[in-house]
Amino acid sequence: ITKIGVLTSGGDAPGMNAAIRGVTRYAIEQGLSVTGIIRGYEGLLSHEIMPLDRRDVGGIIHRGGTMLRTARCLEFMEEKTQKEAAAYIRENDIDALVVIGGDGSMRGAQALSKQGIPTIVIPGTIDNDMDGTEYTIGFDTTVNTVLQCVNRIRDTAYSHDRVAVIEVMGRHAGFIALHAGLAAGAEAVLVPEHDVSLEDLCMHLNESHRMGKMSSIVIVAEGAMKGSDVYDYIKEHTYLEPNLTVLGYVQRGGSPTARDAIMASLFSEKAIDCLLSGTYNCVIGQIGETIAATPYTEAPRYHFPLDENMYRLVHQLGR
Ligand code: ATP
Repeated sequence: ITKIGVLTSGGDAPGMNAAIRGVTRYAIEQGLSVTGIIRGYEGLLSHEIMPLDRRDVGGIIHRGGTMLRTARCLEFMEEKTQKEAAAYIRENDIDALVVIGGDGSMRGAQALSKQGIPTIVIPGTIDNDMDGTEYTIGFDTTVNTVLQCVNRIRDTAYSHDRVAVIEVMGRHAGFIALHAGLAAGAEAVLVPEHDVSLEDLCMHLNESHRMGKMSSIVIVAEGAMKGSDVYDYIKEHTYLEPNLTVLGYVQRGGSPTARDAIMASLFSEKAIDCLLSGTYNCVIGQIGETIAATPYTEAPRYHFPLDENMYRLVHQLGR
């Protein structure tokens, strides 16, 4: 191969820029040329591409978001559109495509590979919910951002004897809620992987209150239920005073942590090494201590669920 394309797709995540930089510079180092595709799969349809050299990706490693922009391109679900995108890639002599994104983006990459385009995926999503990897770029930054926010909210919860209900992102996964919850010393976390009983939650909060705990933190993953429903239930069924914060998009932005910038760089190196050695149609990922490349079709065998021990521990320590 002589020329690769790179795009970011799905939700933006801190560390995507570090991955664009890593892919571009490492590829150039190996003698390849690099084309950036703007707005994910949409850019392949609207023909928005730009050559990337070393300098184009300077000054971005510490920036959140993605310099290539990103999109959720629903048209790309259709085979006709995938064929059109594949033809455009060929017209531009792009031999392989690096896709930085989440699980939906991986399905898009797989669809392109079925059209004969070699693709490789670098996991980039704050949700940490992809098969084939224990870690996705952006997760650590988001957990740390949530932690900082919770620590601020805790000041008010403590001062006013409140139950702070905090809704966090994570789509259908509870990783952000669980990790931030353990780090912040939350009283309870509500995650989609576990049945949520608001009755049990209120019993737990009342019990803690009787034991002398005047304020509590409850972290709710958006995939489990709405923070406002938890707030309403506590207000109706206890004498405790809840307050509600829906963190929203503050969780997605910001400079990547060291871990995210490092993982982005290591995943990028692995992706380019794979393409150069003829390994493609794979997702790059951290599996145990190694950085692996797993074929899309085998990725579901490497599905890493929520850590049950952590889940138990949050509730044991939070009383
Ligand atoms: P995040 O986890 O941050 O939301 P994601 O990559 O999972 O990221 P999605 O919106 O699910 O985000 O997917 C991104 C894009 O990937 C979609 O907008 C679409 O263009 C493409 N895509 C998703 N699923 C498929 C599919 N089954 N076939 C083809 N393309 C797909």
